[in-house]
Amino acid sequence: MLIQGGHIITESGLVRAEVQVVDGLIKTVGPDLKPDGEIIDATGRWVMPGAVDVHTHFGMPLGNGLNSLSWAESSAAALLGGTTTVIDFANPAVGEPLAQAVARWRALGDGHTLCDYGLHVTVTDTSDERLAEIPTLLAAGLPTYKGFLAYKGRLMLLPAEMKLLMTAVRAAGGRLLVHAEDGEMNAQAESLLLNTGRTGANWHPLAHPAESETKAVAEVLAMAAETGCPLTVVHMSLDESVNLLRKARQNPTAPLYNGEVCLHHLFADDRLYEAGHEAALGAICSPPLRPAENGPKLLAALAAGDLDFLSTDHCEFCLRDKAQAAAGGFHEVPNGCGGVGERLVFSHSLAVIPGHLSLPRWQDVICNRPAELMGLQGRKGRLAAGYDADIVLFDPTPEYRWEPLGPSDRAGSIWAGTPVQGQVTDVWLRGGRAVARGRLVQDQPGGVFLPRNFS
Ligand SMILES: [Zn+2]
Repeated sequence: MLIQGGHIITESGLVRAEVQVVDGLIKTVGPDLKPDGEIIDATGRWVMPGAVDVHTHFGMPLGNGLNSLSWAESSAAALLGGTTTVIDFANPAVGEPLAQAVARWRALGDGHTLCDYGLHVTVTDTSDERLAEIPTLLAAGLPTYKGFLAYKGRLMLLPAEMKLLMTAVRAAGGRLLVHAEDGEMNAQAESLLLNTGRTGANWHPLAHPAESETKAVAEVLAMAAETGCPLTVVHMSLDESVNLLRKARQNPTAPLYNGEVCLHHLFADDRLYEAGHEAALGAICSPPLRPAENGPKLLAALAAGDLDFLSTDHCEFCLRDKAQAAAGGFHEVPNGCGGVGERLVFSHSLAVIPGHLSLPRWQDVICNRPAELMGLQGRKGRLAAGYDADIVLFDPTPEYRWEPLGPSDRAGSIWAGTPVQGQVTDVWLRGGRAVARGRLVQDQPGGVFLPRNFS
């Protein structure tokens, strides 16, 4: 197959080039390639690598009968939005071996996902028995782990436990992702709100004060320096947090530090909590949406390289479920919002068009960098010979109001109705056509599990 007539995004900007695909892999990228087999006309469009979202929660069971939208629904939105690879999280139940949690998540994804996927492994139990599983899991293609300083009484690790986890991950040659909010501080803020009758969804952000994030970011950076563990702070939502990361990186002996930013912290803000019950419910996520002046600062940090990549933390619940849970108070509402289908078009509309992100940096933060930092180098996130033929055609011109993608009812999406510019028109996954002219044509679960490594 030859994709011709389009432009690719290079370090020096847009360049006209053709992309030749053979047996599901990219064979050549360059000018004047000889036609061979099917010819795709990409005139007027940008030819991009399938985007990589390394922070999603598809079909996540909450243990109370509620699940986030399924793998089939969420991965359909991913493909339609130009994302061909995600990395989700395997979350063990109390006492469950990590390998068993991974098997349980593989059963959710395998045979159900339309896009390719990998798994990070969440660790909430730092007993010797659990930590001893890490080298084996790592050898099986699971090199990234997740620890929480937030969610007291459920997922939260104490500082000593976090350091044990860091030591084990470092020794095995893995990398650690951390949710940095102070669980104790959040729990106290939440109790105060609930005890004084402040149970509405609009109170949610007050249970996640800014100081809780900055305190936890400072602490986790110090712990990583002490243990030498490579660290990615996920969903950094505050300019002050990024300042702490920037400063920590100046230490020449520091391990690898990375910062992730999510779509909703760039382009949505805390005014949604006061915009009525449904809007507030849709915006319940952790860390919460922050004051409006914060987003542009995070975007500048992403452009400057102080933040490394752009994810979504996609964890979409149907509004009905959120509304039902809200009857018991904001603290019972499942946390998360959607974004996997929105990431390309929204970052193009709100970051590239206004000139905040250059085209190469945009491609870098949604494709190349997340793939490389999470162990998918050589396979995903670039248009280069030998890489999987995950290819997106992007038309940068159409202007319209956003309607959430995919088969499911997306009532309550924080993105619905936003004016946007640009559209994913065609997508291939490992050389197979997944989306044609904006419509899903591969609706069978053709995604595969991706073992990852850092070597
Ligand atoms: Zn998450």
